[in-house]
Amino acid sequence: MRSKSSWIASRVGKLSGEGALAVFARAHELESEGRSIIHLELGEPDFHPGPEVVQAAKDALDAGKDRYAAVAGVPVLRQAIADYLHRTRNVNVDASHVIVGPGCKIMLFLALMAVVDEGDEVLYPNPCFPAYASVTRGLGGVPVPFSLLERNRFQPDLDEIAALITPRTKVLMTNSPSNPTGTVYKDEVQRGLADLAIKHDLVVLSDEIYARIIYGGTYKSMISYPGMAERTVIIDGFSKSFGMTGWRLGFAVAPPQVFSALHMLAINSFTCVNEFAQYGAVQALEDRAGTTPRMVQEFARRREQFIAGLNRIPGFHCIPPEGAFYAWVNISDTGLSAEQVCHIMLEEGGVAANPGAAFGSAGKDFVRFSFASSSALLQQAVERIQKVSSAWSARTRKPELAGKPS
Ligand code: PLP
Repeated sequence: MRSKSSWIASRVGKLSGEGALAVFARAHELESEGRSIIHLELGEPDFHPGPEVVQAAKDALDAGKDRYAAVAGVPVLRQAIADYLHRTRNVNVDASHVIVGPGCKIMLFLALMAVVDEGDEVLYPNPCFPAYASVTRGLGGVPVPFSLLERNRFQPDLDEIAALITPRTKVLMTNSPSNPTGTVYKDEVQRGLADLAIKHDLVVLSDEIYARIIYGGTYKSMISYPGMAERTVIIDGFSKSFGMTGWRLGFAVAPPQVFSALHMLAINSFTCVNEFAQYGAVQALEDRAGTTPRMVQEFARRREQFIAGLNRIPGFHCIPPEGAFYAWVNISDTGLSAEQVCHIMLEEGGVAANPGAAFGSAGKDFVRFSFASSSALLQQAVERIQKVSSAWSARTRKPELAGKPS
């Protein structure tokens, strides 16, 4: 007889969890003991979709749109996504290349499943959203990290990436704006990445889930560089730009062969996405009430306030993020590890944040805070951290520094 542990396929053992969820669980435990916790560990906007979005989903439900729906998404939503990408990203994609799925994460998973064979190498940013490396490993691929370093303002280094490419490299993952660093890849960097992808025949998985949340300039998708439409898969969704995390709605835009593979994987996994939610999503994309720009303006205010506050904490320094809603704080001057700093902040200060190693080895000396919380809570969080920073301020090497919000 097999032992129970051998019931589990070996691929599962190659996956890793998400640090943010572990911190979240501990924070909840403390709350259940009556402690007050400020939650800055999860990447969840404190905004909900506008009433017209909820109404459209309710109307669809009332109209009986609670059936199995088309695998790739209801046609009106696929067209709305194509129009939205044109309007907000100046990207021309055909609705027939759009596939809707239950969240961005599953679309990332399926896109990797569609292209990664045993032993294929996948270039991915370090630090990054933890699923990139975990899923690649789980599929039998080889995750190959490229560094986002503070001294490069967290921009990918083209020379480093070129040197990492081998005959087994198949996929290049990009994520601009980046979780956790908030970096918006520069035009010349993206152009260089596109050149490398074309030269080495790589598929680019461009995770653009934060594309709408940028603090200046216009967003340029990886798909818009010459020669990239035929090799780029855009992954995006409704969780961040529309405050719809629990609706579980994402999408991919893929060139024909990858689209067909994704379609086959959808048939074999989720079948289709909740039909009435898709009608709500159409309203969210049209955004006649300007909900997303208002949310981004509010994030911009919080960014100013919170980054300035964090940069006053002894031993902390933080380059203001150009996009997304995370503060990526270098804590090496505290003389403690990021795990120790997070432990003190949570257990003594009641502020939940993530040690950076949860996002990859390059995050070792960093802590990630989400600033998708109210200004009042962010201010209180800074005050609480200031108080508990006495635990490390005596050993702080360099109390000052870092960028001021630009
Ligand atoms: N990609 C990145 C970079 C993220 O930060 C997240 C969520 O935190 C996701 C994908 C997953 O998003 P979804 O909620 O649509 O599954």
